[in-house]
Amino acid sequence: MHPAFKENPCNICHGTDTKVIYPATLPEDLSLEITKRFAPADHAKGNDQIVQCNVCGLAYANPRMKQEYIWQGYSEAVDTKYATQAEERINTFKRTLRLIQRYVPAKGTLIDIGCAAGFFLKVAKDADWNVKGIEPNKGLAEFGRATYGVDIQSKNFLDSGLAQESFDVVTFWDVLEHVSDPSAYIRESYRLLKPHGFIFLNFPDFGSRLARWSGQKWWFLSPVHIYYFNRSTIKKLLEQQGFTVKKIQMHWQTLALGYLFERFADYNKTISKIGVFLCNMLRIDKLPIRYYAGQALVIAQK
Ligand SMILES: [Zn+2]
Repeated sequence: MHPAFKENPCNICHGTDTKVIYPATLPEDLSLEITKRFAPADHAKGNDQIVQCNVCGLAYANPRMKQEYIWQGYSEAVDTKYATQAEERINTFKRTLRLIQRYVPAKGTLIDIGCAAGFFLKVAKDADWNVKGIEPNKGLAEFGRATYGVDIQSKNFLDSGLAQESFDVVTFWDVLEHVSDPSAYIRESYRLLKPHGFIFLNFPDFGSRLARWSGQKWWFLSPVHIYYFNRSTIKKLLEQQGFTVKKIQMHWQTLALGYLFERFADYNKTISKIGVFLCNMLRIDKLPIRYYAGQALVIAQK
């Protein structure tokens, strides 16, 4: 094994009894090129070896790059495409916020972990929430602060120094599958939440039909995803840290049609090219598309 890599036990039950589900496909040189591997929406293709815990069923990348390299990757990676989709991501978040407000109608204080460029914080702030964000990527955090005037700190959530029981809501959007120790993130969320506070998060559902049908070609198999949760393992993770899971549902997103075709190049370059060409010719590249890609949304309460 390369010295930058390491074997890890299961994050839920701490066991080491696992079976291999998918072999590694990431080329050796790329597996070590940190900035290419970790650009949030522009990353390399392929995956590390994926194993499944024989005790609790959690699927994860193992062996994998050590935490310090992963952290460096997220802090320094430069994403060339993420911020170009501001409008569509903001539309997705507006719907998500309406869902959150069904559970927390009084609004209050909200912290978004791994908030990227702060699109969700902007949406929540506009709806009169008192918001804060944590984002390791310095470029994205700076963009969010400058563009939306929201409080985003570039530090480690596990070492944030925030006061306990200071938030009504904690959110994780496209984040939990990327972190080395999701149990620690959920534990820290529990500490920060007021009594009966809520956590909302989404994850690519490894138990979804789309995931099972596409096998190792699943679009969420990626060098940046460490964990492949399904509804059962995400529930175990949350319950183990004291949360009550209220609901798990399909998570729909919005992106512009042209961007979806661009991203489709990972699967079929010809279809992608024709799609992008037609979108531009017909001037429908900005058309907002609601789509379900196999993600689930979890609502849990302290
Ligand atoms: Zn386990």
